[in-house]
Amino acid sequence: MSIKSLHSVRLNGYSPLMSLPADYHMHTPLCRHAKGEPTEYAARALELGLPEIGFSDHSPVEHDDQDDWRMLACELKEYVAKVEHAREAHPSLPIRLGLEVDFIPGHEPWIKEMARRHNWDYFIGSVHYVSGKWDFDNPKRLAEWAEHDVDEVWTDYFTRLTNAAASGLFQIIGHPDLPKKFNHRPTRDITGLYLNFLAACESTGTCIELNTAGLRKDCAEIYPNIELLKLAKPANVQITFGSDAHTTQEVGMNLEDAMILAHEGGFKECCRFNCLEKNVVRF
Ligand code: ZN
Ligand code: FE
Ligand code: FE
Ligand code: ZN
Repeated sequence: MSIKSLHSVRLNGYSPLMSLPADYHMHTPLCRHAKGEPTEYAARALELGLPEIGFSDHSPVEHDDQDDWRMLACELKEYVAKVEHAREAHPSLPIRLGLEVDFIPGHEPWIKEMARRHNWDYFIGSVHYVSGKWDFDNPKRLAEWAEHDVDEVWTDYFTRLTNAAASGLFQIIGHPDLPKKFNHRPTRDITGLYLNFLAACESTGTCIELNTAGLRKDCAEIYPNIELLKLAKPANVQITFGSDAHTTQEVGMNLEDAMILAHEGGFKECCRFNCLEKNVVRF
């Protein structure tokens, strides 16, 4: 999103009603597939007029050989230091410390241990693994979709996502319909899966994230879709926003579109987190 295109959205008449939301989903080079340091992301956020940002890089898992797209367990301190450095360099911008944590059954003790190690503002719980060691959203593992029944993947995904929401380990659930990334769509109605998931979010006060990275993928849609979002409001589930930036240029990208979608879904408020404490703000 260039400043020019931000400006043109404003001229379209949306901005008198809206202020930009906090961007709570951004990565760092420690995950091995993102570019740009937190200080550079923060500078970009200030340039765009974002009111607040939060880092949520791919968390380590207990065993570093899980995959090659996350920080190592021994790098967690370095990650925290990078975010603290950005805070010192940009004192006028509130910068939150989070993690994007993979929810994998059996990893709960590890997640609790990480939670104790630092002064986190929030954890985003994400499901990138549906079964075994298949990270279904990894472009390098795209061929493995052919070995799976698409509807089964969606069912397994939402089962795991529902368990993540019910665990209470996370403040936010990330990109809550990620299997659509490469355009693998369910062939049947999965409203029941959405409702079970949202009930779990409601029971633990867990937010769902509007994540604009989907606009940059084959699916060309924000995560989640409007159907899920429209069920979220009556289910009493709250929201946050994230660009899922893996480069400086992606900071704040398409957040206006996400706000429009959120309004369409009936939302006028979103959440921010400070030391795990939730605050509701209008957007
Ligand atoms: Zn990533
Ligand atoms: Fe993710
Ligand atoms: Fe991410
Ligand atoms: Zn993500």
